[in-house]
Amino acid sequence: MNEKLSFVNPTANSPWGTYLSQVDRVVPYLGPLARWVETLKRPKRALIVDVPIEMDNGTIAHFEGYRVQHNMSRGPGKGGVRFHPDVTLEEVMALSAWMTIKTAAVNLPYGGAKGGIRVDPKKLSLQELEKVTRRYTSEIGIIIGPHTDIPAPDVNTNAQIMAWMMDTYSMNVGGTATGVVTGKPLHLGGSLGRVKATGRGVFVTGREAARRLGMDLRGARIAVQGFGNVGSVAAELFVEAGAKIVAVQDHTGTIVNTNGLDLTKLVPISRTDGVVGFKAGGDIVPNEDFWDVACDILIPAALEGQITAERAKKTTAKLVLEGANGPTVPEADDILAERGVLVVPDVICNAGGVTVSYFEWVQDFSSFFWDEDEINVRLDRIMMNALNQIWDTADKHKISLRTATYAVACERILMARQERGLYP
Ligand code: GLU
Repeated sequence: MNEKLSFVNPTANSPWGTYLSQVDRVVPYLGPLARWVETLKRPKRALIVDVPIEMDNGTIAHFEGYRVQHNMSRGPGKGGVRFHPDVTLEEVMALSAWMTIKTAAVNLPYGGAKGGIRVDPKKLSLQELEKVTRRYTSEIGIIIGPHTDIPAPDVNTNAQIMAWMMDTYSMNVGGTATGVVTGKPLHLGGSLGRVKATGRGVFVTGREAARRLGMDLRGARIAVQGFGNVGSVAAELFVEAGAKIVAVQDHTGTIVNTNGLDLTKLVPISRTDGVVGFKAGGDIVPNEDFWDVACDILIPAALEGQITAERAKKTTAKLVLEGANGPTVPEADDILAERGVLVVPDVICNAGGVTVSYFEWVQDFSSFFWDEDEINVRLDRIMMNALNQIWDTADKHKISLRTATYAVACERILMARQERGLYP
């Protein structure tokens, strides 16, 4: 644990530091609301929990878990839970803050929250995974709820884990509270379209950005980092639109094919063996070479801090679509801007997931479920309206799409903060 960790003193190059510098950049565009900006630089509440479980071999293991509620000025906290060996409190703070900005950018009636457990789920049996999930849910049960804070899937968590979370919370309160988490299985109050929603949002915003750049998607070369729920779905949609996927990287390695990888084969193989399992369909290259592959569009859809200054200098992409949260460090952002590379920032680009989470939550409360067409039409409309407003703001102030997204979002958040007033 970093002893100097506090809300206002980030560790160097940490996601929280990246977030704070993104907030600093928006201050000149906030007018009188700038008076409230400090609100955004501190999470409202951060909970650290011990998660002890009995392992299959009879030993007792302890994992550290977190739930951070960054801001609730506009509504209940909302945001995923990730299971990863590198999760830290400071990382979860940043992820929760990006949720605040994201929900405000697409104008969903939510604040921002995030959770995580420092654990490698690949090393757990299914039974151990269930125990970790249930104990964690029970521990954070004192601050989550359908009207207070609604978790969802994130890195290494899925519909089954959401079902266990919903069940654990429900058992503890004595009922069935489907609205406490989103991203659930369909027959437990889940929504059609939720699994593909984040990747779909990346595609919808990316297609619009390409149109504005005058870039033809037919034949466009795309490099994708991260091939889970976000990267693989976005890749498939871009291929349907005529683009080709020239490089893919996941936790197993990097595969390159300048003629375009065959996704009908790569996607199923990657689910069991990772992308290197598709040796027959491309060349396996060292991971750092991913950033040198000639491409028109780069989609970081893995973890934070991947686009460093050095990588920003060498990418040949003209368009970066941030499927991941926080993939670009501030120095790299500046280099990309200087080089004329357009970045569609995470807080709008990957907002499709939380948007369909919102639809799921609304459907749970009304106990009336929509068909997939209705979900997708509404999703596309919300994403396009938000993106157009952000683009107008960027043009008006001659600022990056990231700073424009923060300007639109922070105005909504801080206006709510001001109107609610301080209590007591
Ligand atoms: N984990 C996703 C994100 O980072 C979705 C969160 C949600 O659906 O609440 O946006």
